Amino acid sequence: MNKYSVKCLLCGEVHDPYSLNCKKGDDSFLRAYYTAKQLMPTDMPGIWRYYNWLPTEGIIEEGSGRTVTYKSENLASALGLDDLWIAFNGYWPEKNAYIMTCTFKDLESFPTMQRLREQGDKRIIVVASAGNTARAFAHACSVTGQPLLLVVPKDSAHRLWTLHDDNHSVCLVTVEGDYFDAISLAGKLASREGFVNEGGAKNVARRDGMGTVMLDAVLTSNELPAHYFQAVGSGTGGISAWEASMRLLEDGRFGDTLPKLQLGQNLPCAPLYSLWNDVDAVDAACPEGMYDDVLFNRKPPFAIKGGVKDALEATGGILYAVNNKEASEAQELFERSEGIDINPAAAVAVASLVQAVKAGNVKSTEKIVLNITGGGQKRLMQDYELKQLPVSLTVSAKDEDAEAKVVTKAAELFGALL
Ligand SMILES: *Cc1c(COP(=O)(O)O)cnc(C)c1O
Repeated sequence: MNKYSVKCLLCGEVHDPYSLNCKKGDDSFLRAYYTAKQLMPTDMPGIWRYYNWLPTEGIIEEGSGRTVTYKSENLASALGLDDLWIAFNGYWPEKNAYIMTCTFKDLESFPTMQRLREQGDKRIIVVASAGNTARAFAHACSVTGQPLLLVVPKDSAHRLWTLHDDNHSVCLVTVEGDYFDAISLAGKLASREGFVNEGGAKNVARRDGMGTVMLDAVLTSNELPAHYFQAVGSGTGGISAWEASMRLLEDGRFGDTLPKLQLGQNLPCAPLYSLWNDVDAVDAACPEGMYDDVLFNRKPPFAIKGGVKDALEATGGILYAVNNKEASEAQELFERSEGIDINPAAAVAVASLVQAVKAGNVKSTEKIVLNITGGGQKRLMQDYELKQLPVSLTVSAKDEDAEAKVVTKAAELFGALL
């Protein structure tokens, strides 16, 4: 029997397991359905502990970390909560947390790269990102040696650090221009022969990888929580938490109610908050002015079948808008009470929880999972020296030959593969 099958949520048709879109053109996500109806943790390293609910046929042995969930005492007491669980994604050796890029994007990059590997896919994966996603894919590809083309705005290149000495499988292209210029160039490149797009939220490996946060939280605390808090940009992590919760319901051992998704966005750039609440909360200058611009996504998968809207509707969800002052106070509160530094994006989730407590959207006795989507970078810097990922090429967004120049550079670096 197959480990899993992939079906369209609209037409129900079974697709090739590696598809990203419905072949009939339905505006819908595909979803993985696992043959094993019960979650069975394995002894395998990192994220592969949840191998039976990951859409891969094999693992990348080295380099992946996983979520570590623990029950909060100090933050919980500061907020007057009795049953608050922190799902920590990052580096915190004292808690056995070893996500070495310090965000939960590693939970997406490892299963995604494993799937390309098992298909024997030699194409160059193209990733456009201003930070955390790029770092996660660079890490996975430096472990496996698979070719990666990163396209980032020049001003964001400083966020692309690595712990690896050898990054020869990564071609980092910086774009003189803004975030949208980088995305647009990456889109053109990914559609060329020899290149492949990572698929974003449509990729079941990315969603089920992120879904392991919920799996870890529930296995550790023995029960589905009443509430799940996360800071979102695309909302993919929220969708993933919902999908994982449905599987856990079906498992039968962890409760019978879906956790309420309580998601946070950062003002002044909160497109999901705008769509859900039917207000305008997106400034024209976005992503400028954000506490953390990794939370900006111009086209989040909101209305698509199986997307953010469905996830919020199914769980009675809530979206919060958090300003920079609230985020910074929440970051301070978290770091002081829990004793670990967190990524600024994660502070938006903490601030959402603060708002929820004030608004009475959670009861003090209810079980709550707070996804700390990134943390421990300062802690990491005490133990390791971070190195800049070397830039392979810089192009200007105005240069008509930019695309051709990148292709030439990639061919030079990855030669035989093209
Ligand atoms: C990407 C990211 C998020 C938002 O994730 P979604 O894809 O919107 O679920 C939150 N926090 C950090 C640290 C991130 O890197």
